Amino acid sequence: MIKFLNTLTHRIEDFHPITQGEVRMYTCGPTVYSYAHIGNFRTFLFEDLLRRFLKFSGLRLTQVMNITDVDDKTIRDSKAAGQSLRDFTEKYTEAFFSDIATLGAERAEIYPRATDHIDEMVTLIKKLLESGHAYEKDSSIYYRIKSFPSYGRLSGINPDDLQDGISSDVDEYEKESPKDFALWKTAKEGEPFWETEIGPGRPGWHIECSAMSMKYLGESFDIHTGGVDNIFPHHENEIAQSEAVAGKPFVKYWLHCQHLIVEGEKMSKSKGNFFTLRDLLADGVDPMAIRYLLLSVHYRQMMNFTRNGLEGAASSLRRLTDFLRSIRDTTFVEKNTGDLSPVIKEARRRFIDAMESDLNSSGALGAIFELVRDVNTALQRDGVTRVEAAQIESLFSDFNRVFGVLVPPKTVDDQDILQLIEERKGARARRDWKRADEIREKLQRLGIILEDAAKGTRFKRV
Ligand code: AMP
Ligand code: ZN
Repeated sequence: MIKFLNTLTHRIEDFHPITQGEVRMYTCGPTVYSYAHIGNFRTFLFEDLLRRFLKFSGLRLTQVMNITDVDDKTIRDSKAAGQSLRDFTEKYTEAFFSDIATLGAERAEIYPRATDHIDEMVTLIKKLLESGHAYEKDSSIYYRIKSFPSYGRLSGINPDDLQDGISSDVDEYEKESPKDFALWKTAKEGEPFWETEIGPGRPGWHIECSAMSMKYLGESFDIHTGGVDNIFPHHENEIAQSEAVAGKPFVKYWLHCQHLIVEGEKMSKSKGNFFTLRDLLADGVDPMAIRYLLLSVHYRQMMNFTRNGLEGAASSLRRLTDFLRSIRDTTFVEKNTGDLSPVIKEARRRFIDAMESDLNSSGALGAIFELVRDVNTALQRDGVTRVEAAQIESLFSDFNRVFGVLVPPKTVDDQDILQLIEERKGARARRDWKRADEIREKLQRLGIILEDAAKGTRFKRV
């Protein structure tokens, strides 16, 4: 049974999607005003791990990740760059897609852009005005937090701190001062705006995610994720907006990734203490080592970024690939003294148990490394059998479906295959069936199937 720590209830809960067998998940995507830093990627890769594990567990998944291409920061920086908002954000949207591909993240099903959903936002704001949850002031429109009695439930705000009528025009503000927040900001000289039924202007950041999530996932859906800095005000405000319109629970499970920190401080663009993926790649760092590092600590724990940590991740990854190579290159024994099958089965059970326990990635990696130790001992003692090797390969293949840190072995070129076919021919002529079978299996693992015909052996790639 999959269990998650739900930020909304502060409890570990069994995961039961609203529709059995199907998961609808929304993840707050990047604000495309510069290259994402690896703190951002910690959150995006946690979401990728979650995505992969839900699918691995047999659930059908629809994941929506928005692109925030209009907000205070994109407008500020596109102006500074002297570019249109569209041209400016397009560059960083492309960079984001390229970066997540480099980090081996799977693609979400839908990537809606905020600027393509202004109509949906306006519809929500009109409903909030009609029901008295929103009011107009100086041509902008604000959400009245006092009108929503459970405001603060997600972030734990004290209702006594709520101040009626004190409003904020900016998208981000502190938890200590909960305010009525802008749903619609009236058009300003020199800023992009849309002509709409609620006047000329542009949306606040929070309404964007309510509009895009409900459009693609419905008024109630299963999982909403983000980094912990999204809890307040962003997610608190999303709940207030969406539930005031729909009159039903917005999201069942809220999952938030803790921060990546540098020397005790959150890695962030405003502090300037950040590394982009591009910075690290330029230094020759393997992107899979970055992926491994960011996934190796449980997402609910703060994680410190260091160069040493990065080197440690690269060496852990090397241990895994060396181990797999040694299994692939070994000559199997018919029989050995120990039986590895129950050990492999136990490693699989521990791997899945850890992942089901609120995505305990460090525990899951622990189970895999323990198996590596046990199998290495067996290899040195008296080898592994063909059956054991197949079981190990199968576990590693499942491990990699979830973690995605192992790059598939390089495909062999035709020349190498023909050479192995020749060697196999020789082995068969000598009636060395064992060697002939080994060659066939080795090729099979590399996705090459041999077909023996009257004219000789042919091969095909699968
Ligand atoms: P942004 O592009 O600023 O909207 O951020 C994208 C995602 O990265 C959000 O879910 C943030 O919560 C998350 N995030 C920002 N800084 C960090 C950090 N230092 N560690 C982990 N996640 C972060
Ligand atoms: Zn969002």
